[in-house]
Amino acid sequence: MKITRKDFLRLSGLSFLAAGSMEAARAIAGRSPSAKDSSEHPAKHPVQWGMVVDLRKCQKEKGCTACIQACDSAHNIPQFSDPKHQVKWIWTQPYETVFPFIQNGYAEQSDAGIPVPLMCNHCASPPCVHVCPTQATWKRADGIVMMDWHRCIGCRYCMAACPYGSRSFNWFDPRPHISHINPDFPTRTRGVVEKCNFCEERLAQGLRPACVDACPEKALVFGNLADPNSEPRQLLRKRFAVQREPELGTGPSVYYLV
Ligand code: SF4
Repeated sequence: MKITRKDFLRLSGLSFLAAGSMEAARAIAGRSPSAKDSSEHPAKHPVQWGMVVDLRKCQKEKGCTACIQACDSAHNIPQFSDPKHQVKWIWTQPYETVFPFIQNGYAEQSDAGIPVPLMCNHCASPPCVHVCPTQATWKRADGIVMMDWHRCIGCRYCMAACPYGSRSFNWFDPRPHISHINPDFPTRTRGVVEKCNFCEERLAQGLRPACVDACPEKALVFGNLADPNSEPRQLLRKRFAVQREPELGTGPSVYYLV
């Protein structure tokens, strides 16, 4: 998406971005995409990648972090002891904070505190993409929201615009904080933003995302949402599923079976 100087200055003046307000996300997600923005015609591409997370299966292995570890190793994600500096592609949050509006007060006690795996939603209308002044982040025709770390100027507008907290900023050089560097994936530098990329580098080799392969319970199901016969689509037909804050109009491509 091309952003004009006028757009950029207007967005710069919007203090709601700094506050990360839901209204801002809704407004930005609802903007008309430019002709270059592939999110304009997502249904026309035969592949639209998406993820389905089966929370019942996910909870079978208490304390399991296999998906997070696999993602961290595959993508050279640094480990910082101070949570303020955490870089995360997949992380967990308690169920009641992820889905506060689907609580009914009579839910099973065991639902409270359940760790829900979270990642970039690869939104159909991604506010992060709309606000990036350098086009360092963009949406591919197959639905994946990408990052080019060489183009990122560290303004963090995308972080403010993302209503899901899916992006992290490298406050420090991450390299000394990576235990084993995977030579097949680039490391990042201080001052850039990063996030989940649906393992596009593995998809290009015909592999599934690392988190999906690592899950011992097969709770993560990845596939083509545009194909009615794909595994995610079959699950979404059979089971009740929710997205994170769909009312914002972002169109998350990650679904949760609850
Ligand atoms: Fe962008 Fe991902 Fe956040 Fe959606 S969830 S706004 S695609 S960073």
